[in-house]
Amino acid sequence: MPECNLEQNKADCTCTYTSCGKRGLCCECLRSHWSAGELPGCLFPKDVEKTYDRSVEKFIATYQKRR
Ligand code: SF4
Repeated sequence: MPECNLEQNKADCTCTYTSCGKRGLCCECLRSHWSAGELPGCLFPKDVEKTYDRSVEKFIATYQKRR
């Protein structure tokens, strides 16, 4: 099983909620958001990410407009 790249993940994370305990733990981040019908912040463009609306609906609406 590969090692977790925690420090590199933290360095690369684009989520602006920097005090989140799941920061860099991408598997936990994804599991947590997905169980709430959401997606991780890193999948949203900067201007949308900062609204903290991580819903699947927002994701679809965002990328439908930008294509
Ligand atoms: S996307 Fe959510 S779980 Fe992931 S680091 Fe940001 S606030 Fe935490």
